Amino acid sequence: ETADEEEEKEEVSKAAAPAVAAVQHEKDFYPYILIGAGTASFAAMEAIREKDPSAAILIIGNEDIGPYMRPPLSKEMWFNKDEESTEKLSFKDWQGKERNIVLKGKETIETIDQDALDKIESAQSGVRVLTGVTVEDLNVSEQSITLNSGKVLKYGKVLLATGGVPKTLPVLQGAGADKVTTFRSVEDFKKLHSLVKAANKKIVIVGGGFLGSELAVAVSHYGKDKGVSVTQVFPEDGNMGLVFPRYLSKWTTSQVEQEGVVVKAQSRVASTKPTGEGQVELTLENGEKLVADHIVVAVGIEANVALAKKAGLELDEVRGGVVVNAELQARRNVYCAGDMTSYHDVTLGRRRVEHYDNAILGGRVAGQNMASDKLHKAYKHQSMFWSDLGPHIGYEAVGILDSKLSTVSIWTKKPTVAAADAEKKEAASESAAAATPISEESKLERATATPLPAEAVKVEDKEKYNKGLVLYLKDKRIVGLLMWNNFGKVEDARKILGEVYDTEKVEALVKPFGIHEE
Ligand code: FAD
Ligand code: NAD
Ligand code: NAD
Repeated sequence: ETADEEEEKEEVSKAAAPAVAAVQHEKDFYPYILIGAGTASFAAMEAIREKDPSAAILIIGNEDIGPYMRPPLSKEMWFNKDEESTEKLSFKDWQGKERNIVLKGKETIETIDQDALDKIESAQSGVRVLTGVTVEDLNVSEQSITLNSGKVLKYGKVLLATGGVPKTLPVLQGAGADKVTTFRSVEDFKKLHSLVKAANKKIVIVGGGFLGSELAVAVSHYGKDKGVSVTQVFPEDGNMGLVFPRYLSKWTTSQVEQEGVVVKAQSRVASTKPTGEGQVELTLENGEKLVADHIVVAVGIEANVALAKKAGLELDEVRGGVVVNAELQARRNVYCAGDMTSYHDVTLGRRRVEHYDNAILGGRVAGQNMASDKLHKAYKHQSMFWSDLGPHIGYEAVGILDSKLSTVSIWTKKPTVAAADAEKKEAASESAAAATPISEESKLERATATPLPAEAVKVEDKEKYNKGLVLYLKDKRIVGLLMWNNFGKVEDARKILGEVYDTEKVEALVKPFGIHEE
């Protein structure tokens, strides 16, 4: 017998004689163990309890705090008017409502440490979060996990929701470890916040994606009256250059600059060294030198698959993450959700998404499937994401937003529709800005039109992208929608995601988005 056949037999026998029931009331058995005390685990927990209200659930996380929202850490938390709110980890949401980043729902969650865990004779019910503990091993045939203390726990169903690990750049090593931080957790927030609080600090943020751009704006705003300077360094032509079409990325940079950030686009750090006076000198590839008190590196994350890899789960070599099916199942009784999950999206194909709502919605589906062997629910509901970059930019989006795709943009102020072809991206996406207004009548033609001549475009124009819609196209289908300063349209966007893009029907297609209503 091959090892595979042996394991297959083992699994079949397990299915026949339900392992879950046999050890139901044993010490160190939990019907549901959720690994990673983040957003996805929180959502899964709530979904399990909805189906199985007295379920005993153990969430295990290696941070000192239970599940919380990360989004405010690079936005709202820096806009607090008083330090007391910040201490309490509170923030004001966009409606002015005071909230806390710690996730709270209907369920009562008991936070425990390893000592308390050891004292549990038999977990009959209740939701517990074990903090400060790392799960070191997962044994999918034994249905057990091993904690960093060596303690072994058995599970009925397990969720892997271990999130992502921020990447860093070797070139920053010269600066010294204490001068460079990644930014993911509350702990990272507290560290950077207390550093920026002291007057006159020079902060360099490396990275022009979601995190680098949000943080640059937020820290600059917070540090305005403290003499703080923020410089952002990244290789793309503008902020969010991997996500927005080129013209919009450039416009975004102009807005980030208005918030006081010094943006070094098309730039890479070539070397770093201490200045000898407690600061760091960065040399860019073009020879320019910057001095910093601290460097924040925001160059993306790596899906955290350490545990899954050891357990022999299938990994996605292209996108990173653990491969799961549309039901978010990696193996029998093993589920994944959130940032570390490469799943089959029934509409858009295999994907891995690194956003909050995906962790919530995916976590929910995983939890529902975990709590019911008969459900077999596919993760079909399209997640959204959103961001704010200063007072003039707020957006929501669904689907795949990749600046390499062809895009069609429709704007309110000076109504324009233009197509950008991926191959002709350089010229095309700048002209998508269509500084020359296009009349309502010619709009439909313009949707298929070849790009305007490059000289017709001046990105520096004070034209404002007040409200608009960008469609991302792949194989003639709409695979992504960006709703720019246009809130509450996510449901409409979900409806047309995956549809064939037809120039003839563009007017009807975009009608629900109310672009031309003002
Ligand atoms: P996480 O929330 O990262 O949770 C995983 C947890 O598992 C972590 O606490 C980790 O320490 C723990 N863990 C890992 N391995 C182990 C182990 N072996 N044992 C025990 N514990 C382990 N998305 C948006 O859509 N909009 C936003 O505005 C937005 N803003 C963001 C701002 C910041 C600063 C950051 C960092 C992210 C932001 N995101 C945003 C992304 C969003 O927060 C993530 O997509 C989301 O947190 C993913 O949830 P998750 O549960 O998969 O992972
Ligand atoms: P990202 O993937 O959005 O951006 C990566 C960026 O790294 C690129 O835009 C590029 O500018 C930069 N980069 C890569 N190599 C570089 C180099 N050699 N030098 C300089 N820059 C380089 O990742 P992120 O911005 O670090 O965000 C971290 C995570 O947090 C992501 O999962 C992101 O989705 C999430 N997040 C999401 C939001 C949101 O949805 N609003 C907000 C903040 C963070
Ligand atoms: P909430 O916490 O009740 O969340 C509502 C939904 O948004 C949920 O599905 C949640 O999973 C998701 N969500 C929350 N924060 C998110 C984030 N940062 N990224 C991605 N998804 C997120 O509501 P909230 O936090 O008070 O507000 C979030 C919503 O409000 C978003 O849809 C946002 O775009 C919107 N908003 C509207 C305006 C406006 O002017 N109308 C301004 C800012 C934000």
